Amino acid sequence: MDKKRVVISASKRVSQLPPYLFAEIDRLKAAMVRRGVDLIDFGIGDPDIPTPDSVVLACSEALRDPANHRYPRNAGSAFFLEAAAGWMAREFGVAPSEDIGFGALIGSKEGLAHVPLVFCNIGDIVLVPNPGYPVYRSAAILAGAVPVDLPLKRENGFLPDPGALEGAALRGARILYLNYPNNPTGAVMPVEKMASLVEFARKEDLLLVSDNSYSHLRFDGGRPLSFLQIEGASDVCLEFHSLSKTFGMTGWRVGFVAGGRNLVAAFMAAKENIDSGVFTAIQRAAVTALESPPGEFQERLSIYRRRRDILIEGLGRLEWDVCPSPGSLYVWVAVPRGYGSMDFARKLLTSAGIVVTPGSGFGSWGEGFVRFALTVPEPEILKGLGRLEKMEMPGMKARSTIRRAGRCRKES
Ligand code: PMP
Repeated sequence: MDKKRVVISASKRVSQLPPYLFAEIDRLKAAMVRRGVDLIDFGIGDPDIPTPDSVVLACSEALRDPANHRYPRNAGSAFFLEAAAGWMAREFGVAPSEDIGFGALIGSKEGLAHVPLVFCNIGDIVLVPNPGYPVYRSAAILAGAVPVDLPLKRENGFLPDPGALEGAALRGARILYLNYPNNPTGAVMPVEKMASLVEFARKEDLLLVSDNSYSHLRFDGGRPLSFLQIEGASDVCLEFHSLSKTFGMTGWRVGFVAGGRNLVAAFMAAKENIDSGVFTAIQRAAVTALESPPGEFQERLSIYRRRRDILIEGLGRLEWDVCPSPGSLYVWVAVPRGYGSMDFARKLLTSAGIVVTPGSGFGSWGEGFVRFALTVPEPEILKGLGRLEKMEMPGMKARSTIRRAGRCRKES
């Protein structure tokens, strides 16, 4: 046998994926845990409040039915798709219609990641929010498309920069990813802005991909919104919904896509070649969640709201520069003058045992911020605030002044 070393490399696309920027924080965190440091972890957006019992019970019953042990129906079982349609009608006023289709997903991430593969040709432009959920950018790269930044700036309330949108349209962008309530900035989008973006997408023949995985996590009293409630949206919009955050079901891997019937059909037809659908017992459980009484979710929301209020108020008392963060599961905070977001996250970890996510991990426009996830119980939040109070933090007030004056960092 020829003993020469054979090296098989990954594709160029894979080498173009952005580096994993949280590695250093992960390493530091692991080292501190080994040393027995009591960490308070605001890093991960993975709900600590368990899935409702009713959902667990529905799944355990469904597990016993051998019919559910076979391949699921790829696009989703009829009972699940009906429940998804019912949820859209009840929660967002999106009336069932011939124009709107639904498909089951193994979590919204899987769906969001497949969009460019289905709708882009090589070299097509995909607009990705920056800062934003890193999957949109990676998905574009893996499909051979070209991600182009859509800056979300503080002075625009972290809504898309209109100039950047027009510029991308001139360059023939194919897809626009949007995510409100937003990870990581906590921003929400007013319905008027949503309507203007639908109009823009229609004018420019752009596929509007709405990541609505935090739809119900609103702390401003605003009702949950869907792009599909806007007239004319279904022609141009695919909207991704997730049970992960709304029902504390991140581990279950279930969500759905809703949108123009033809768009959903094309999407699910392509996906049929990649996976074989969602385990039917989990679809049964998901129906129980989607049809649960509103109180079930309201209780969850009020826990997150209390945590958010305690954190924002506490950081405010320390004169930290906190963004309003009216939605999603996160509080977005400007770092003090003299720190980069990674330096600051490192300092919080090593000096106070507090884990936050550096904003730079969400894109260049996330530099200058860190993200706190609201997945930490109240007593821990209070303990964390106590530790922060004792920390030396020169420059925090100075930074606030600069930010309010709108001197944001350059685009890159
Ligand atoms: N979109 C955003 C913005 C997210 O933050 C996440 C997960 N944190 C997802 C989508 C994926 O959620 P899931 O796959 O669990 O539905």
